[in-house]
Amino acid sequence: MAYRITLIPGDGTGPELVAAARRVLEATGVEFDWEVQEAGAGVMEKYGTPLPDAVIDSIRTNKVALKGPITTPIGAGFRSVNVAIRKILDLYANVRPAHSLKGIPVCHDNVDLVVVRENTEGLYAGIEHDVIPDEAAESIRIITRRKSEQIVRFAFEYARANARRQVTAVHKANILKATDGLYLKVAREVAAGYPDVEFNDRIVDNMCMQLAQRPYEYDVLVCPNLFGDILSDLASGLVGGLGVAPGANMGHDLAVFEPVHGSAPKYTGMNKVNPTATILSGVLMLRHLGEVEAAGRVQAAVAAVIAEGRSVTYDLKASRDDPTAVGTREMTDAIIEAMG
Ligand code: NAD
Repeated sequence: MAYRITLIPGDGTGPELVAAARRVLEATGVEFDWEVQEAGAGVMEKYGTPLPDAVIDSIRTNKVALKGPITTPIGAGFRSVNVAIRKILDLYANVRPAHSLKGIPVCHDNVDLVVVRENTEGLYAGIEHDVIPDEAAESIRIITRRKSEQIVRFAFEYARANARRQVTAVHKANILKATDGLYLKVAREVAAGYPDVEFNDRIVDNMCMQLAQRPYEYDVLVCPNLFGDILSDLASGLVGGLGVAPGANMGHDLAVFEPVHGSAPKYTGMNKVNPTATILSGVLMLRHLGEVEAAGRVQAAVAAVIAEGRSVTYDLKASRDDPTAVGTREMTDAIIEAMG
């Protein structure tokens, strides 16, 4: 029977990337019945909102979605559709793996990190206001015991299920004594229940330096919302950039898979950006569906195409101006061909 999946193309480069991932997923032989749902600035006029109820209803019904990035206006305009989807559906855990891939010119060649980011509170609670218009503004950072416990427990369960050796809690509890003090206290309490997984903690600024110098000493990083967002971009930079960084937003019984990167609007419609992050988000989805063999085939094909280095997009070449770089569609064709 075909899997019924909500498919959200998104905007900017999203539609071309989601089309690429869809082609690769269909080439595995696994059957999908896609329910396409539009969200973002493009649907504002038609529905009066960038996030129509139908999108949320579809994810609730199908339980699984593959999503392209959606643009958020900077400084003004509507609030993030991406954050809204995570909050409305309580997709509390954002899982962002970063693995080294052969063939990409980077500083470290043995990175294998997973950033587990709390996805629904922290500074992304979006509680902010002007104190004196144009002079001072305030944003409230919410950290709760319940959400902290939930995300740290998720990280330990993930570590156990995926044979990972260590969980590191990332925080700024030296300065943010109330909020991150609570987060760290709860993390230590939860860690005591998992004696089989090593636990440590790092202050976020030190964590950045450690990741730049010795990323191979770390394994699963569990972070409050904003730190997780920043560290997962840093982790993607260690393995080749946003073009290769997949992600999963996990709730209690719902899952939305999407690349770490945004809509890269300046490249819209140019057949230029790297489809790998969206395709690997599809691999995470296949594993979630239990299609482990198909997931392995796609992952191996992506790795083979990147290792060979011929049919890859500009961001995976040693020089960004390399005239031999191919487009989104051509790299996708090569991946499908490599799947045999
Ligand atoms: P971005 O991730 O869209 O792009 C930053 C840069 O990363 C690009 O200019 C490009 O150089 C590179 N890049 C990104 N994706 C790539 C790919 N697939 N292949 C090759 N290079 C790639 O970040 P931004 O410019 O800060 O954000 C653009 C918009 O996306 C904003 O409106 C932002 O709010 C939104 N955004 C959405 C999501 C989401 O949908 N989950 C996530 C992050 C940002």
